[in-house]
Amino acid sequence: MNAAALLNLQEIDTALTAVNNRRPRLPELAAHQTAAVALAGHQAKIDEAQAVIDAAQAAIEAAEHAADDITAKRTRLEGQLKTIIAPREAEALMHQIETLNQQRGELDDQELAALDQQAAGEATLAVLLAELPALEAVFAATDAELQRANAELDAEAASLHERRPAAAAELTESELAAFERAKLHFAGVAIARLEGHRCHGCHLDLSPAEMDQVKATPADSVPECPQCGRYLVR
Ligand SMILES: [Zn+2]
Repeated sequence: MNAAALLNLQEIDTALTAVNNRRPRLPELAAHQTAAVALAGHQAKIDEAQAVIDAAQAAIEAAEHAADDITAKRTRLEGQLKTIIAPREAEALMHQIETLNQQRGELDDQELAALDQQAAGEATLAVLLAELPALEAVFAATDAELQRANAELDAEAASLHERRPAAAAELTESELAAFERAKLHFAGVAIARLEGHRCHGCHLDLSPAEMDQVKATPADSVPECPQCGRYLVR
C-alpha cells in the first residue's frame, strides 16, 4: 500500500470533515442567531405597544359611543322636564338626569385614562420604531457575513472534492475499501502518525518487538498499529 497516497487521502477526508464541523460552530452563525433573536424580541415589543394602542383606541371609541347614548337620553329627559308640572315627577326626572350625569362623568374618566394609555403606547412605539433600523441593519450585516463564511466553506469543500478522485485513484479498490472501513471504525481517521514509539491514534507506545515488526514492513505496504489497528505512517 502506498503510504503517501493513504496519508494524502486521509488529509483530504479529515479536511472535509473539519469543513462540515465548522459550519454549525461558525462565529458568524452565532452572531447572526443573536441578531435574529434581538430583532424578533424587538418586533414582539412593537407588536405589544401596538396592541396597547389598539386596545386604548377601542376603549376610547366605546366610551364615546356610550357617552353619546347618555347625552341623547339626557336631552330627551330635559325636554320632558320642561313639560312637567307635578313636583314629584319633576324630582324623579331630575334624579334620573343626575344619575346620567354621574355615568357620563365616569365614562369621561374612562376615556381620559384610555387616552393616557394610548399616548404612553404611542411614545413607547415611537422609541421602538426609532431603534428598529439599527437592529435590522445588524441582522442584515450578520446575514451577509454568515453567507460569506458559508461560501468560503463551500469553496473549500469544493476544492477538496475536486482533489479527492485523483488521491483515491492512487489506491487499489481493495485498499480503498479497507481505508473506508477503518475510517468508519475509527471515527473518520483511519491512519495515525508513528512518532518515536508512540502511535498518535491511540497514544500508546509500541514495544521494542512491535517497533521491529513495523520497521520490517516492506516499503510498498503500510503497517498497522498493534494496539488500535490504525494504519501507521512514519
Ligand atoms: Zn494505535
